[in-house]
Amino acid sequence: MLPNRYDFREAEPRLARFWELNNVYGYDPAGLGQHFTIDTPPLTVSGQLHIGHCYSYTQADVIARYRRMRGDHVYYPMGFDDNGLATERFVEKTIKHKATEIGRDAFINACLELTQQTEGRFETLWRRLSLSVDWRYRYSSISHEARRVSQWSFIQLHRQGLTYTQVAPTPWCPECQTAIAQAEVNDASLPTRFSTIAFRLPGGGILPIATTRPELLPACVAIFVHPNDPRYRHLIGKTARIDSGAFSGSPELAVPILADELADPSRGSGAVMCCTFGDSTDVRWWHTHHLPLRAAIGRDGHMTGLAGSYAGLSVQQARRRILTYLEETGQIISEETIEHDVGTHERCGTPIEYLHTRQWFIRVLDQKERLLEAGRKIRWHPEHMSIRYEHWVENLQWDWCISRQRYFGVPFPAWICRACGETMPASLEQLPVDPQTTQPLVACACGSTEFEPEPDVMDTWATSSCTPMIIGHWIDDPAWFAQHFPASLRPQAHDIIRTWAFYTIVKSLYHTNDIPWREVMISGHGLSADRRKLSKSKEHNEVGPMEIMEKESADALRYWATTGRTGADSPLNLENIATGRRLVTKLWNATRFAE
Ligand SMILES: [Zn+2]
Ligand SMILES: [Zn+2]
Repeated sequence: MLPNRYDFREAEPRLARFWELNNVYGYDPAGLGQHFTIDTPPLTVSGQLHIGHCYSYTQADVIARYRRMRGDHVYYPMGFDDNGLATERFVEKTIKHKATEIGRDAFINACLELTQQTEGRFETLWRRLSLSVDWRYRYSSISHEARRVSQWSFIQLHRQGLTYTQVAPTPWCPECQTAIAQAEVNDASLPTRFSTIAFRLPGGGILPIATTRPELLPACVAIFVHPNDPRYRHLIGKTARIDSGAFSGSPELAVPILADELADPSRGSGAVMCCTFGDSTDVRWWHTHHLPLRAAIGRDGHMTGLAGSYAGLSVQQARRRILTYLEETGQIISEETIEHDVGTHERCGTPIEYLHTRQWFIRVLDQKERLLEAGRKIRWHPEHMSIRYEHWVENLQWDWCISRQRYFGVPFPAWICRACGETMPASLEQLPVDPQTTQPLVACACGSTEFEPEPDVMDTWATSSCTPMIIGHWIDDPAWFAQHFPASLRPQAHDIIRTWAFYTIVKSLYHTNDIPWREVMISGHGLSADRRKLSKSKEHNEVGPMEIMEKESADALRYWATTGRTGADSPLNLENIATGRRLVTKLWNATRFAE
């Protein structure tokens, strides 16, 4: 006889123990019949889990359970993405020190310790939520195996000529002090002062230039006008000047007036400064017109020596001081406040700069057709999410920048030859390798045996884009790989289509000439009750998943998660959760009745 009342507080932990002891969700690789492989998102280790995570992970779990009930052998591993910027920022916040303050080794140790603890907490929560994962296949992206796969992948791409280094203007976060990829830049609309500055023309006359970034004046290398703009056509080839005593090394700044179709006659005065570098148009002009490089902003977001007496000031301080100077010297014509689109770093919200630095790239721009074709071979749920992928590929502007000037990540498995400057990749049998503490096994082609380690680490996506290969035991077990690749299903959220889905398709195509998974299920976000997006890293007073499960049961929380549609965001709904709890009681009572 079943007890009168269903007590989830007693039943759920008891059943979780039963599942664990009896290996109920254990995957049998030798099982006859159909196998179903889930490329589970490795959770970024960067703070607290919130109900949004429970929302999307439950949806994937429902598919796993459904396939199991249909008789499939379900390979459902779980991963943790525990290196990269998100993790580093979480650790910096927790230990209240920046990586640069405590040094590379101490910082890496702090990261390892904190991520271990946090992953333990995450697993406890997932078990409490009853995800039917086979925990024997838990992995982490900083593990020995994952580093090996990631570095192996890099070396293969390097051999195929699909990677290159380049000293070039690259999106840069001055807060995190690293290069970032196009996919990590968000568009934000911020209120900004729009100042019109008076440049002097030869023989008298004024050329008005409107700008939101006067602090870039020390980096100004040209003024552009549209070649057909009747107001300025006669000025092309002449020089414009401005008094710059305070903000550059010389009393005046003189720049050429040049013509380019990209200058928009309807914006501001129609004449625009080109600085190295304010935005991606500046980068293009700098390339196409072979302009000089004047780097006025350093890696830490402070002004360089080019800014004269303002050297060392932050961008914001320099902006105020330069505007004051221009006002006092009568060089400002007008000012207004406008909403201005600014690229910001998705991890920290800091406006990005374009800095001229040496970075590693993986080619993607010349592979757009192939990438689009691969996207069409995958079944997307909901179907319209494939359009996001297509738009992203079609609008790519940069190759994939994979180097990060950070600490806690997978190092580049390479050295630089001191004699000839060529890259010397590690031998495959050395992997995983830390070039800071190891040397190449062979001499450089030039004969030299003197090497500098590659100083950078790889973008964390360069590793997490290999998850189908990590769970597929790509390097060491060809039979397992043949059985599990392409994976059956990739569940993931819509905001990382441009990163995780895209990069995984890139790696899969380059390494196997195949798609990484047959189907992708895109989840929406579980939002707060007032429809705000929840965040692991920001403080929030939201009720946490453990609290909800203690009060309403794991089943009830899961019930809410399964009432959302794929791809659609869904606010936390406590009533809906209570309905879920009552439904379980009804099922219990019905079972008792039938007993
Ligand atoms: Zn940042
Ligand atoms: Zn050499």
